[in-house]
Amino acid sequence: LAKRTIDAMEFIEDNDVKFIRLQFCDLFGQNRNIAITPMQIERALSSGIPFDASLVVGFSESNYSDLLLCPDISTIQILPWRPQQGKVARIICDIRYPNGDIFESDSRRILKETLERAAVKGFQFNTSAECEFYLFKQDENGDPTTIPTDKAGYFDLAPYDRGENTRREICLTLEDMGFEIESSRHEAGRGQHEIDFKYDDALSSADNIMTFKTVVKTVAQRNGIHASFLPKPLVDEPGSGMHIHISLEKDGMSVFENKNNILSDEAKYFIAGVLAHIKGITAVANPLVNSYKRLTGGQEAPQLISWGIGNRSSLIRIPELIDNYFRFELRSPDPTCNPYLTFALILEAGLEGIEKKLSLMDELATGENEIIKNTKINESIEELPITLIEAIAAMKADPLIKTILGENLAKNYIELKTVEWMDYIKTVHPWEIDRYLSTY
Ligand code: GLU
Ligand code: MG
Ligand code: MG
Repeated sequence: LAKRTIDAMEFIEDNDVKFIRLQFCDLFGQNRNIAITPMQIERALSSGIPFDASLVVGFSESNYSDLLLCPDISTIQILPWRPQQGKVARIICDIRYPNGDIFESDSRRILKETLERAAVKGFQFNTSAECEFYLFKQDENGDPTTIPTDKAGYFDLAPYDRGENTRREICLTLEDMGFEIESSRHEAGRGQHEIDFKYDDALSSADNIMTFKTVVKTVAQRNGIHASFLPKPLVDEPGSGMHIHISLEKDGMSVFENKNNILSDEAKYFIAGVLAHIKGITAVANPLVNSYKRLTGGQEAPQLISWGIGNRSSLIRIPELIDNYFRFELRSPDPTCNPYLTFALILEAGLEGIEKKLSLMDELATGENEIIKNTKINESIEELPITLIEAIAAMKADPLIKTILGENLAKNYIELKTVEWMDYIKTVHPWEIDRYLSTY
């Protein structure tokens, strides 16, 4: 503790930090924070800073209105968009009860425990995410519209691509915060973009996704633009996904090593495990009513529960070998999910596959997904849930998910998401009026 306090004090003094934001992720994957001054950092590190949990989604049901934020000092970062004289730093926190016990519904802790359990069995996970998002114009009040900032498409250049300056500023800000940016580009939709950053161990990678989303939204806002991670903001344009790449090492050896397109047994078991649980995982990886508009809307979003080597229309794709980075890509999650919970569930499902030596369905060749979707020739191929309520039902029926998330969190999640669904389904939507009013 003494060492951690000295390190933190040094960082604060060296960087002229005047405010420290203690940050955490709520149940639904939103960043929350409270600010403290440097005077409080010692107290924060020794006993934690209390906050009112009764107003935080998913935490209020814990019967304790006071919970503690306990900073993980390794995550301290300067926020480059705040004033550079008297800087603002953020630290990601773990959450504890007032008596010091860990708060079991803290999603970051759930991922940490998954990784620790896996490490005991010799497994190490690296993950990365491809977050897609739209840039929309704001109206005169500064509120978001759904008018894209440009009409460009995949890989387009300026002048069609009007997002290049915002994207550039996002990349530079992320680099200031220690990100290694791999590529950035205009995506296929009008005003849609993607920025990819380097993989990391699964916990840091989930932290990075949270930071990434904050940076994208903040930089866009400063440019008078609204950045949105909503999975399907425009019905005729592609949705925004968050493809997840996972590389898995067992005792230092790469499990997804793919020599001449032949996978190891463990890789096959892992994929089988993820496929076996994907319906229930979808409730977490695709958490909004709107998520299902993307999944059912085509435009490169997966719909069938399938896998393939190099096959981009599959739910799971094993990319051809690049740079000795062997990995597996899951294409269903979207950027509105809680990345800690999503990673934990995927990793645990895969490990269960390895433990139980689950057998893997046949690979689907490129193009076959489309044929099956259109003709339903193969009845044995199942589909991802097509609505949130279907995904919730699958989650309820999956004991592994309950075990990993814990009774309380799983119960809260299901209850809150069911309420959200009921809100939606009770509403009369413009589509219904369009379709029915003149006929009935
Ligand atoms: N936007 C597509 C999706 O919804 C993915 C496009 C891509 O392959 O990058 O998942
Ligand atoms: Mg993409
Ligand atoms: Mg991808």
